[in-house]
Amino acid sequence: MRVAVLSDVHANLHALQAVLAEVDAGGFDEIWCLGDVVGYGPRPNECAAVLRERATVCLAGNHDLVVLGKIPIIAFVDDAGAAARWTQAILDDDARAFLEALEPSATLPGVELYHGSPRDPVWDYVLTEDAARESFAATSEPLVLVGHSHIALELSTDGLRLLGGTADGGKRVELGGPRRLLNPGSVGQPRDGDPRAAWLEIDRSGVDNKSGWATFRRTDYPVELTQAEMREKGLPETLAERLAQGV
Ligand code: ZN
Repeated sequence: MRVAVLSDVHANLHALQAVLAEVDAGGFDEIWCLGDVVGYGPRPNECAAVLRERATVCLAGNHDLVVLGKIPIIAFVDDAGAAARWTQAILDDDARAFLEALEPSATLPGVELYHGSPRDPVWDYVLTEDAARESFAATSEPLVLVGHSHIALELSTDGLRLLGGTADGGKRVELGGPRRLLNPGSVGQPRDGDPRAAWLEIDRSGVDNKSGWATFRRTDYPVELTQAEMREKGLPETLAERLAQGV
C-alpha cells in the first residue's frame, strides 16, 4: 500500500494542489493528513474541502482547534493570532463541520499518528532528544508519525539508542526494522530552509504490510501565488515573506 502523508497544509492551496498532482501521478492508495489544515494561509475553505474529499485520515492540529474556538485564541500571539482571527471570520459551514469532527491523534494497523507528539498530541514538538525518547516510550507500533514542527525528521530506536535527525528531500528510510518516528515536514509553511512543499511517501508493500520504505518528498509550487492571495486578504506580511525562505 502506498500512502502520501501530508501535514501542516495551513490553508496554502497552491502548495496542496502541487503535492496532490504528484500524488495523483504516483499511484497512491491513500492520503493521511496530520493536522493544521488551516491557519496562517489564505485558502482555508478550499483546503478543508480538498482534504475532506481526499484524505482517508485527517487529524486536528492546534491551529484548527484555535480557529474552531476549542482552544482560546489567546494561546496564539501576533501573526498566528491575527491569521486565526481572519480564518474564524471566513470559515464556511462545510469547513467548520469537517474540522469539528477531527481528533489530534489516530491509530491505524501498524501506525500511530499524532499532530504534536504522543506526550501531548496538540501542542508538544518532537524536536529534542527527550521528546523523541518519551515519544517512543509512549507508543508501541512500529511506525509513529508526527507533524506540528514543520521540520522533516526521521528518527529510529532499537529500544536503547536514538538515531537519525532532520531529513532532506529525497531521503529514504527502510521500514520493518527498528521502530521509526517520522515527521513529513509541512506542505504549506516549511521551516527547514527549503521553501518547497514537504511530504512523505510510505510504501508498505511487504507481505505483512509493515516492511517497506518511506521517502521524504519535496514539491515545487508557485509560492508567489499564495503570497499574492495573502496580501490581497490582508494577512500579516511576515507570514507571506517567510514562505519564500522556507522559515
Ligand atoms: Zn502547523
